[in-house]
Amino acid sequence: MSKEKGTMIGLECHVQLNTDSKLFCGCKTTAEEPNSACCPICLGHPGTKPVLNAKALDYAMKVALALDCEINQEFFFSRKTYFYPDMSKNFQITQYEIPVGEKGHIMLSNGKKVGITRVHLEEDPAALVHTEGMGSSNFCLVDYNRSGIPLVEIVTDPDMETPEEARDFLDQLTIILSYLKVFSPTTGTLKADCNVSVYGNNRVEVKNVSGKKGVEKALAFEVARQKHVLLEDKEIAMETRAFDEEKGTTRATRSKETEADYGYIFESDLTAFRLKKSEIDEMRNKLPELHGAKSKRFTEAFGLDEYTSKVLAGNFALGNLFEQVAKDTDANLAANFLTRELMAVVNRSELDIDSLELDSKEISSMLSLRSSGKITEKVAKDAIIVYLTKGVKPTKFIDGQGLAMDLNKGEIEKAVEKAMAENKAAVADLKRGKQKSLNFIVGQVMRLTRAKANPKEVQNIILKRIKGE
Ligand code: ADP
Ligand code: MG
Ligand code: ZN
Repeated sequence: MSKEKGTMIGLECHVQLNTDSKLFCGCKTTAEEPNSACCPICLGHPGTKPVLNAKALDYAMKVALALDCEINQEFFFSRKTYFYPDMSKNFQITQYEIPVGEKGHIMLSNGKKVGITRVHLEEDPAALVHTEGMGSSNFCLVDYNRSGIPLVEIVTDPDMETPEEARDFLDQLTIILSYLKVFSPTTGTLKADCNVSVYGNNRVEVKNVSGKKGVEKALAFEVARQKHVLLEDKEIAMETRAFDEEKGTTRATRSKETEADYGYIFESDLTAFRLKKSEIDEMRNKLPELHGAKSKRFTEAFGLDEYTSKVLAGNFALGNLFEQVAKDTDANLAANFLTRELMAVVNRSELDIDSLELDSKEISSMLSLRSSGKITEKVAKDAIIVYLTKGVKPTKFIDGQGLAMDLNKGEIEKAVEKAMAENKAAVADLKRGKQKSLNFIVGQVMRLTRAKANPKEVQNIILKRIKGE
C-alpha cells in the first residue's frame, strides 16, 4: 500500500478579481441588499448571451504573466455542466481545454519552486444562504449577487510538502495579487480546494476552504488523519471532503467525481479569443516590479538586511511608504522604524495600511529628529501611535507638546556646569570610576533643562569635563 513518498499537496485557488462589474454582464460586483445586483444574464435566463468583461480578462492575463506562465495565444470558454441551485443555467462558464495561461511557477520564501499548472478565468456561482430556525423548517435561500463575479482559478502542481508550505504559497500569491491590484485582501475572498496524499496513497480533495488560515488548518488535520488511517492498516478512500471551520476537522461528502463527469462542452455564445504575440509581450513588459525584485533592490540600494527588505516589499503600501520616507532621512532607521514600530501599531489596532494615506514627509521629518537625537525613541513611538490612531501629524504632536530637545550647545554646557557644581560628591565619585554617578549627574542636567537636552550629548560633555579637569 505505501510507496515511500512524502506528503504531496496541490491547491486549486479561486481568487475574486476586483473588477467593478461582473464577468459576463454589466451588474455591479458590490451590493449589500441580497439579489439587488443581478440581471437576466447572471440569473441564467434562457436565451441571454454573455459578453466577456475585457478588464477581467486583462486581470487574469496579468496574474498568469506574473506567475511566469506561458500565455495561450488562442483560448476559449467551456460550459461545465452540473445541477445545483447555485447555478440556475445548470452550467458554469469556465475554461477547461485551453486556459489563459499554463506552466508557471511561484517561489516560496524557503526558495522552493511550486509549479503552476494553469490559470483560468471563470464565473462565481450564486451564494446559498442556509437559514435555520425559521419557524419549524429550515430554508435555503439563493443570493444571485455573487453569481457571475469574476474569479481566476490558479491550479498548482502537487509540489508542496507541508501545510506550512501551502500557507506560504498563499502568502506569496496574495502579495503578487496585491501588487497587480487585481485582488483586495480586505474585501475579496480567496478559497481553495486542497488536494492531499501521503506516501503515494490515494488523493483526497478538501473542497472549498476559505482563507489562508483555513487552508493551513484543513491540511494539517487532513495530513494527520490520513497518516492515522494508514497506521491502522486501512486504505485511504479517494474522496471529496468538507472542512468544518469551527471544529477544524474534515468529513467525507461524496466519492470524488472526475472532470469527465462534468461533460464539458464549448461555450458557443462566446467566440474564441486570439492574441498577437506582440500584445502578450507588451503586457509582460508592462507588469509592475514584483516583491521579489523589489526586495532585492532594497537590499542593494539601501544596504538593508534581507529579512527587513522582504518584510518591506511583502506589503505593497509599506514598501512604497519606505521608499518615500527613505528619500529624506536615514534609510536604515526608516526601515527599522517602519517594519517594527509602525507595523506594530497597524497590527495592534487592526488598521488597514492600504487605506491609511500617510504623509511620508511627516514621517521622515520625525525620523530626522530622532536620528539627530532631538527626540527620544519613546517620543518617536508615541508620535507614530498618535498619528496612526488619531491622525495627529508627528511634527504637530512633537511641537505641540514641546517634546523636541532643541537647546543649543551653550545652554547645555551651562546646565552641565551648574549640575556639576551643585553635586560635587557625585563628581568626585565619578572621577573614581563610579558609573552610577554619571547617570545621576545626567539626570540632574535633564531636570535643569526640562528634558530638552539629548542625554547622550550631555553625557559626552560631562565626561569631557571630568577628563579635562
Ligand atoms: P481534478 O481534475 O480531479 O481536480 P487534477 O489532476 O486537475 O484533478 O488536479 C487537481 C489538483 O490536485 C492539482 O492541484 C494537483 O496538483 C493536485 N494533485 C494531483 N495529484 C495529486 C496527488 N497525488 N497528491 C496531492 N495532490 C495532487
Ligand atoms: Mg479539482
Ligand atoms: Zn447581471
